[in-house]
Amino acid sequence: MSQKISGVKGMNDILPGEVEIWQFVERTARELFARFGYGEVRTPMVEDTALFVRSVGEETDIVGKEMYTFEDKGGRSLSLRPEGTAPAARAYIEHSVVNQEPLTRWYYLGPMFRYERMKTGRYRQFHQIGAEAYGSREPAQDVELMDMVVQLLQKLGLTEVSLNINSLGDEACRPTYQAKLVEHLRGHAGELCGDCQRRLESNPLRVLDCKVERCQQIAQAAPSILESLCEPCRAHFDEVQRKLTALDIRFQVNPRIMRGLDYYTRTAFEFIAAHPALGTASTVGGGGRYDKLVKGLGGPDVPAVGFGLGLDRLCLLLKESGQKFAAPVDLFVAVADAGSSDVAFSLVSRLRREGLVVEFDTRGGSLKSQMKRADKTGARFALVLGEAERESGQAQLKPMAGGEPISVRLDEVARVVREAPSR
Ligand code: ATP
Ligand code: MG
Repeated sequence: MSQKISGVKGMNDILPGEVEIWQFVERTARELFARFGYGEVRTPMVEDTALFVRSVGEETDIVGKEMYTFEDKGGRSLSLRPEGTAPAARAYIEHSVVNQEPLTRWYYLGPMFRYERMKTGRYRQFHQIGAEAYGSREPAQDVELMDMVVQLLQKLGLTEVSLNINSLGDEACRPTYQAKLVEHLRGHAGELCGDCQRRLESNPLRVLDCKVERCQQIAQAAPSILESLCEPCRAHFDEVQRKLTALDIRFQVNPRIMRGLDYYTRTAFEFIAAHPALGTASTVGGGGRYDKLVKGLGGPDVPAVGFGLGLDRLCLLLKESGQKFAAPVDLFVAVADAGSSDVAFSLVSRLRREGLVVEFDTRGGSLKSQMKRADKTGARFALVLGEAERESGQAQLKPMAGGEPISVRLDEVARVVREAPSR
């Protein structure tokens, strides 16, 4: 026997039975985001490595440690995308979208790749649903995006998720904060992890995002960025809060939220679900404003704000909720004798064309084994087709959950099944 080959560590198969949850989330998001005026953008899974180095930042975990980078046969350095914001911005610039419309709203959905230590809710190929809005500097745009996530979570039935918000300031006030932070961190320099000692020089804000416990304790005691905001950043943040309140969206101000990417300015937010199904991977999504990103990637000076949600984590939560997601089977058609199989096969094809979900055992087999299978599929009705049915053009619809069979003409099956009250 040949040796069996396993899938790549940290990259999951999603099989029928589970995939319905994913489809439900994806469908719900697509419908909702369209209502908000967001159109789908699809970018390649692979980009020039420099795109992520320049936008996400070299000192971040994502680029520094987690990226799948390789050389193609032409010697270019390419990377599997670790996130969706930089590719979307790259496409926005490349297609000169700003010349076609002043305000652009996009969403995306698909796999992302990060070489991480695997555990519950943390994979090497994971999936994000994200959205980006380009062209508006206004707090209303930040809040529209948060509202979109809140409405999505509601539609999914995930109500135990809390919204945390913060402001990261801008180029006017962040340096002041950074100086205060460095002063605080210097006092504990010896206790910081190796990475953070380096970050202290290169990118001190990143220390606040470190996952090492001692670094987190030191970060907890650091001065709050909110006390250093300049007047325009303060006004923006106040207005975000006012608008959230006006929409009845509950939130918590949390000055520790930094986000793991370098390109943020002003608003930053996270959606956190403290649920045992997620273990320590409790952040289901996050986002914020990145007014310098598009320009920093060589594009026009266009402000932007967006979010990314972890689809895998949303699905873990939904799995726990015990809801049913698979489309119910309307009808199982069984064949009583070999002479009826062609007529049954045509009937099945026609009913599917007419919109019913129909199960049929292509292997044939005894009536008994077919009915066993009918039971397994959870079909609402079964219909047995034999010589008598072929000749009369009439059959019995047997409700699988019990009850009286319904007589039906073979050309009326779809209508009758559709109109039969479900029990
Ligand atoms: P974390 O703090 O959990 O590492 P992050 O700050 O790295 O998250 P983002 O880059 O903001 O995450 O990505 C947005 C969302 O994508 C996260 O909130 C999470 O739900 C999901 N996500 C990120 N990395 C992974 C991963 N390796 N596996 C599964 N989901 C992930
Ligand atoms: Mg991470």
